Amino acid sequence: MAKLIIFSAPSGAGKSTLVRYLLSQGLRIQFSVSATSRQPRGEEKDGVEYYFLTPEEFRKRIANNEFLEYEEVYTNTYYGTLKSEVDRILAEGTHVIFDVDCVGGLNIKKIYGEQALSIFVMPPSVEVLRERLEKRATDTPQVIESRLAKAEYEMSFAPQFDVTVFNDDYDRAKGEVLRLVSDFIQQ
Ligand code: ADP
Ligand code: 5GP
Repeated sequence: MAKLIIFSAPSGAGKSTLVRYLLSQGLRIQFSVSATSRQPRGEEKDGVEYYFLTPEEFRKRIANNEFLEYEEVYTNTYYGTLKSEVDRILAEGTHVIFDVDCVGGLNIKKIYGEQALSIFVMPPSVEVLRERLEKRATDTPQVIESRLAKAEYEMSFAPQFDVTVFNDDYDRAKGEVLRLVSDFIQQ
């Protein structure tokens, strides 16, 4: 049966990096492209990292009941998982992987139960998060502050996830997620 793998963490903890690594491992997994009303950053392309929508388009889709879940993750910035995206991937018999905020991750887990594995990526500390976000250099100082302000609150969700992976050393964390996900999709 096709499975769902959910990655959640505070911004900068390293979930996109770990998700990208898993997608390169030939595991028959596709990434669930979320919709967002934020602007593309860096090299991001519409339909690849996200479906980039205006806030008005996003609200229209909410009204049309097109989302499996959505959150206003930061003020005026919406993110959501489209039902059509998940249904399409599962219908292909492929596993699906999500990079979503903690509340969204727990909501997806609630909907799919045992068919889903929820993974929380824990950063070593908020200070390290700051360093990673500054080094990634994709967000303005103001955006970085709003992400850090939320980090501690998000870390309090960890116990509600099926597993917590500490992303201190990247190579170790990579090995751990590969083992966890391979075992889960083979069950
Ligand atoms: P998220 O998707 O959780 O916001 P990213 O995957 O974009 O986080 O990672 C944030 C930054 O930290 C990136 O520049 C990434 O290369 C770096 N990074 C990720 N994991 C580690 C790690 N274990 N050690 C050091 N830097 C890391
Ligand atoms: P970013 O702007 O760094 O790409 O993402 C910001 C936050 O929004 C991250 O925690 C990311 O996981 C989350 N996010 C991305 N897509 C979704 C989604 O579809 N639903 C929810 N609830 N959160 C999402």
